[in-house]
Amino acid sequence: MTEKVYKYVIVGGGVSAGYAAREFVQQGLKPGELAIFSSEEFAPYERPTLSKAYLFPEGAARLPNFHVCAGSGGTKQPPEWYTEHGIDLYLSTEVKILDVEAKSLTTSAGATYKYETVIVATGATFVRLADSGVPGADAQGIYYLREIDDADKLLAAIKDKKDGPAVVIGGGYIGLELTACLVKNDVKVTMVYPGPHCMPRLFTPELAAFYEGYYEAKGVTIVKGPRATEFEKDESGQVKTVKLKDGTTIQADIVVVGVGAKPRLELLKGQVAEEKGGFKVDGFFKTSVPHVYAVGDIAAFPMKIYGDIRRVEHVDHARKSAIQAVQAIKAEEKGETIPEYDYLPYFYSRSFDLSWQFYGDNVGEAVTWGREAAQASSSKFGTYWVKDGKVVGAFLEGGSPEENKAIAKVAKEQPAVSSKDELLSAGLSFATTI
Ligand code: FAD
Ligand code: NAD
Repeated sequence: MTEKVYKYVIVGGGVSAGYAAREFVQQGLKPGELAIFSSEEFAPYERPTLSKAYLFPEGAARLPNFHVCAGSGGTKQPPEWYTEHGIDLYLSTEVKILDVEAKSLTTSAGATYKYETVIVATGATFVRLADSGVPGADAQGIYYLREIDDADKLLAAIKDKKDGPAVVIGGGYIGLELTACLVKNDVKVTMVYPGPHCMPRLFTPELAAFYEGYYEAKGVTIVKGPRATEFEKDESGQVKTVKLKDGTTIQADIVVVGVGAKPRLELLKGQVAEEKGGFKVDGFFKTSVPHVYAVGDIAAFPMKIYGDIRRVEHVDHARKSAIQAVQAIKAEEKGETIPEYDYLPYFYSRSFDLSWQFYGDNVGEAVTWGREAAQASSSKFGTYWVKDGKVVGAFLEGGSPEENKAIAKVAKEQPAVSSKDELLSAGLSFATTI
C-alpha cells in the first residue's frame, strides 16, 4: 500500500497545533497539504479554560465554545473548520515513532505517513507523585489536570463527593486556580505546598501574602512547608487521608495534585539537540535537524530580549511560537526571511474575582506598590522588578486592558528609574505615563 505523503505534518493537537493550522490557512494552504495528529479526542482547544470556566458549577464552558482560536479573540475552529480547509485531522491518534531521517511517522495503530516538514507540538504532561515513589499515590480519588478527560474525571468526583473535603497539593498555577474552582463548587479545601509561600516561580513574599490571605478569607486552609509523604486508602482503594512530613494527617475524599509539568520529548529524543530541558530551536523554531520544527512547551528558544535560551510553559508563547514557525516555513519556501522571534514573556492567571498579568523578567529588586490598601476584590496593586537601574518586569492585579498594555510596554521598553521611592510614589502611573 502506498504511504500517504503530506507536505506538512503537525504532531500534537493542542494550542500550538490549532494556531499553526490557522496560520497555514492564512498563508495559503492547498487541500491535502496538512495533517495534524493528536492523541486527544477533540480538535485543538484553549487549554487554559480547563482550570477555570470548565469547572464552574454554573455557566461552565464547553466545546465547541473554547476551540482554538477563541482565547485570543479569533474564530473558533471546530472539527468542521479543518475539513473545510482540506486539513486531515487525525484525532485519538497517538504518534508512536517519528523518524526524522526517513521523514516518516507511525501511529500507535501501526499506520505510517510521510512528510516533507514536521512541526512537533507535543506540549507537556503533569509530574506524578507516584513517579517519585510517594506511598499510596496510586489511590483512586487523586486527580491531575492536563486534558479534557482529566477535567471530566475531576468534575465527576466533585459531583459524587458533593462537598469534599479536598486536599490540593501544590501552590502553583494549578493549585491556585483549581482551589478556586473547588471552592466555587462548595468543596472545602486544604492547600498543601512546600516552601514559604505560593507561586514561588513568580510571586514575592509580599504578593503571595495577598493571595494567601484572600484564599483564607474564602475558607481555604493553607498548610505551608511540609510535603505530602503518604496517601492512605480505604479497602476499596479510595484515598482517605494525606499524611504530611511533619506528622499531620488531613482527611481527603478528593486530592488534586499540581506539582509541575514535564515536556513530552519522547518522539524526538536522541534525534535533535536538547537544551534547558527542551528541544533547542533557533529564532524560527527550527531544531538542529532540517525540516523539523518544535514549538510551544517543548521548545527551548532564544529569548532575544534577555540574550539567553528559555523554555516557556504558557499559552501566549504556544500561540506565537506556532505562528512564527509557520511564517518561517512559508518564507523559506519563497526564498524570503522573517525577523527572529522576539518574545516578551507574558503570564496571567484568574481565580475567584482576581485577575493578574505579568510581563517581562522577575529578576533584580522587587518594588510593590498599593499593597497596603489592597484588601477586597476591587484591589489594584502591582510590582516592578528593577535590574541595573531599569524596570525589567511588571505585575498588576486588577488592571484594565489599557493598564495591562501599559505594564507590558514598561517590560518591553525597560525605562530607567532613579530610585525605589520613585516607583513607590508613582505606582501604576509610572507605567501609564511612559
Ligand atoms: P498542548 O496544548 O499541551 O498540546 C499538546 C498536544 O499534543 C496534546 O493534545 C497532546 O495530547 C498531544 N500529544 C502529545 N504527544 C503526542 C503524540 N505522541 N501523538 C499525538 N499527540 C500527542 N497558560 C497560560 O498562559 N495561561 C493559563 O491560564 C493557562 N492555563 C492552563 C491550564 C491548564 C489546566 C493547563 C494544563 C495549562 C495551562 N496553561 C496556561 C499552559 C498552556 O495551556 C500551555 O503552555 C499550552 O497549552 C502549550 O501548548 P502546546 O501546544 O505546546 O501543548
Ligand atoms: P507550577 O510549576 O506552577 O507549580 C508547582 C507547585 O508545586 C509549586 O508551588 C511547587 O512548590 C509545588 N511542588 C513541587 N513539588 C511538590 C511536591 N512534591 N509536593 C507538593 N508541592 C510541590 O506547576 P503546576 O501548577 O502544576 O502547573 C502545571 C503546568 O500548567 C505548568 O506548565 C503551568 O505553566 C501550566 N499552567 C499555567 C497556568 C497559567 O499560566 N495561568 C494555569 C494552569 C496551569
